[in-house]
Amino acid sequence: MTESEYKELAEILFEGEDLKTPEEYEEMYPYRKLGKKAEVTRLAPSPTGFIHLGNLYSALADERAAHAHDGSFFLRIEDTDAKRKVDGALELIIESLGYFGISFDEGAHLPDTDSVNVYAPYTQSERRGIYHTFAKKLVEEGRAYPCFCTEEELEAVRNKQEAAKVLTGYYGEFAVWRDKGLDEIKAKLAAGEPYVLRLRSEGDPEKEFIFKDEIKGEVKLPENITDIVILKKDGIPTYHFAHAVDDHLMRTTLVIRGGEWLASVPVHMELFESLGFKPPKYAHTAHLMKIDPETGGKRKLSKRSDPEMSLSFYKEEGYHPHCIKVYLMTLLNSDFEEWHRNNPDSDLNDFPFSVKKMNNSGALFDMDKLENICKNELSLLDENVIADFLKAWALEYGTDAQKAYFADEEKMLAALRLYMGVGQKRRRKDLVNARQALELMSYLFEDAAAQESDPFRVDEELRKAILQDYLDTFSYTDDNGEWFEKLKEIAERQGFATDRKLYKENPEKFKGETSDVAEVVRVAVTGRANTPDLWGIIHVMGEEKMRDRIAAAM
Ligand code: GLU
Repeated sequence: MTESEYKELAEILFEGEDLKTPEEYEEMYPYRKLGKKAEVTRLAPSPTGFIHLGNLYSALADERAAHAHDGSFFLRIEDTDAKRKVDGALELIIESLGYFGISFDEGAHLPDTDSVNVYAPYTQSERRGIYHTFAKKLVEEGRAYPCFCTEEELEAVRNKQEAAKVLTGYYGEFAVWRDKGLDEIKAKLAAGEPYVLRLRSEGDPEKEFIFKDEIKGEVKLPENITDIVILKKDGIPTYHFAHAVDDHLMRTTLVIRGGEWLASVPVHMELFESLGFKPPKYAHTAHLMKIDPETGGKRKLSKRSDPEMSLSFYKEEGYHPHCIKVYLMTLLNSDFEEWHRNNPDSDLNDFPFSVKKMNNSGALFDMDKLENICKNELSLLDENVIADFLKAWALEYGTDAQKAYFADEEKMLAALRLYMGVGQKRRRKDLVNARQALELMSYLFEDAAAQESDPFRVDEELRKAILQDYLDTFSYTDDNGEWFEKLKEIAERQGFATDRKLYKENPEKFKGETSDVAEVVRVAVTGRANTPDLWGIIHVMGEEKMRDRIAAAM
């Protein structure tokens, strides 16, 4: 085809569409005025109604990369696959990420008319005209052409290629519509036959290029030779084409996306080149992995079989978003942990995050590690912050009884002070998440606390004797020291050693030691073998409740 035939073909294909010119778009969407180091990043999810930990991991990297140097982070909705679109998906994305403190500077969550939404629309289904403008330009320049192959024809070619053990796909001699004349195309169009628009690849199968990934470093890839589809039969762009057009016009500087796209880089490079755009920097993230509890081997975290992959899991269990952020930062940059340890009071956002420091070989998600981080971080938060957090969680997910824990604010704060070891030299690290925390302290608020089976060598009769002695001598006004002295006196009266050393030397002379007596009381009062300071607990629950519990235990 000649140059003028290309132009004629472009006119025919896009006839009746009121399209702007590429230059008009270039002018409409100016580059942001940002500092030299500033990055423009984006999260580009498909609205499938499911948002997972991998999205959050990626979103945090995007957000940090953009905000480290006053760049911009925006949300683009990639809804070109109508079959996967789910109502309410945008709200879910905003709400789920918002819970973890991720918010966008611009994007699909704001009205197009909002003053910050300079690059609107941010939803791909609303950008049809933009894609057509650039597709038309490619046709005019001979870089794209319509292909009328049916599914059956394409499959026949694929079978032939497989049999011949050559690369499958639409390229070279197999790209049958690549060099058809205008008349033949016109005849098909006149007959109303459906077609897709394909890129006319100029790639050389012999050539490789080196591409620098921000995470993976230098990657050697063969040039693209496939005439990939850029517009589908319904005129909707493929991911590849929309990516090139959108990230160019939205002036993205750094594309952080899943490693599954790395193999598409040659296609994207050719698209950017054919469109005359400068490609962005790319950072392909490693997949989140876990140790499979059954096989002991490493595998990818899966949406289907791993509940911890779903973001709603963390909300429903009541993981504090700050803890999740600390954990994800630990996964994102391996030097974060040390920085955080050395700068415990610094805002997490002060950490010098860099995509270059991101893990190249698969970040290992470890629930035990996450829980340890939770324990540590929660012990450092203010009890008022925790109380508010637990209350919000209980109101949404808690039982009626748990909701009632918050009727007496002072009591809840006192319970938290105990469980967080407030005022102690070594902070307690008992709390993991809201569900576990409220279950842990249920006996302080609820009557019917389950009694754990008595783990002691103390027999029934002796146990009763200890408890009776305790009730007879207990005084609510005793301070912690006096209270413990009385416990020692009970121990002595009941035949237990009050001196550790003595007991160790002659264990057969005693029924046990003071700590065993304390445990008998502890289990009777709380139903548990492990609790914070028992005197403190009694002073949160009150004397009456303590006596009721002990009476019930006897
Ligand atoms: N919509 C694509 C996805 O969800 C976006 C990939 C990208 O960030 O470019 O996989």
